[in-house]
Amino acid sequence: MTPDPTAARPLSPATRVVASGRPDRTQGAPVNPPVVLSSTYVSTGTPEPGEKLYARYTTETWEPFEQVLGELEHSALPALVFSSGMAAVTAALSLVTPGTAVVVPRHAYHATLLAAAELTERSRVHVRPVDVADTADVVGAIAPTGEVPASMVWLESPTNPMLDVADVPAIVAAARERGALTVVDNTFATPLGQRPLTEGVDVVVHSATKFLSGHSDVVLGAAVTDDAGLRERMLTRRTVGGAIAGPFETYLALRGLRTLALRTERSQASALVLARRLEEHPGVLEVRHPGLPSHPQHDRATALLDGYGSVLTVRPRGGAAAADALTRAVRLWVPATSLGGVESTLERRRRFSSEAATVPEDLLRLSVGIEDVEDLWADLDQALVSIR
Ligand SMILES: *Cc1c(COP(=O)(O)O)cnc(C)c1O
Repeated sequence: MTPDPTAARPLSPATRVVASGRPDRTQGAPVNPPVVLSSTYVSTGTPEPGEKLYARYTTETWEPFEQVLGELEHSALPALVFSSGMAAVTAALSLVTPGTAVVVPRHAYHATLLAAAELTERSRVHVRPVDVADTADVVGAIAPTGEVPASMVWLESPTNPMLDVADVPAIVAAARERGALTVVDNTFATPLGQRPLTEGVDVVVHSATKFLSGHSDVVLGAAVTDDAGLRERMLTRRTVGGAIAGPFETYLALRGLRTLALRTERSQASALVLARRLEEHPGVLEVRHPGLPSHPQHDRATALLDGYGSVLTVRPRGGAAAADALTRAVRLWVPATSLGGVESTLERRRRFSSEAATVPEDLLRLSVGIEDVEDLWADLDQALVSIR
């Protein structure tokens, strides 16, 4: 842990993203950690514990990023960086016991659903889809009478793209009682929005590609746990699976992470302004954002999240054709997949056949960046008017 200037007052996350993961303050030391380009390390004899040997095991370029993310998630152990969010997701899913079940949100990230389905074939794992916003549905799926019990409850909150908000503390308590591990994909909330490990969650995963890196120029993932045994198993998945991060990608992710608090402050504030205005727009059928009182879990989001996030969804009047037209009518917003960058992007999710069928055909997911909010609004307004 980075030493706190006063023992009485822990560093705020906005300071931690800037101050942690830096070299020791010795005369002439660099202020930023170096990027080390070496696949191997000088070594003879029996390796000492923790000795660097080979760049698939651990590298000094990964360590500062892993330290900062571990601290942000309130873990006593550093995070594990992976080559992508999906590499972290599959490492966490490897903790499911063969022959048991895994409970997954029906609206989880589409590739997570595919990865869980693959487990069914390979490891005889039953996948039990639930409505993650419905706590009774989730809890009921953990150990239903007469069926194989779940060894893992996978949570995503808010979900991608439906922004369903789960009652994480209640679900964790129920999963613990029934002996199931809990995992939270914290990509949307980021550790600034919620710290699931402090609620008793076993593993947190991230697509660092999104908000953590924040500039749409790197694909990277991470897993965080406070449990040394679980960390060791995921570390083994990384080492033998080989889904390791490149040094430049990790450097870019740490560079991006330094401004996470600033970027989040701006984009969250803008997302709420845009969500409110869009809800009043005659060209709009429905807006979803956890910060709107019309969101079905608005009160839960207010209680559990620090901030409502930078993503919202919009269904324009006129169906999928109107939604597609809108992605062509915008001039400032970038029509593209992914999210969490400094530039605002939008996308109709059901253009992918792998997207859950319960996601409306006309639903656009908007990721709000850090541009001036009035410019973002003017562009959306002109696009909505032009497609009518
Ligand atoms: C993008 C995303 C992933 C996958 O991450 P990659 O970095 O694209 O591999 C996982 N979960 C969520 C919620 C995501 O948005």
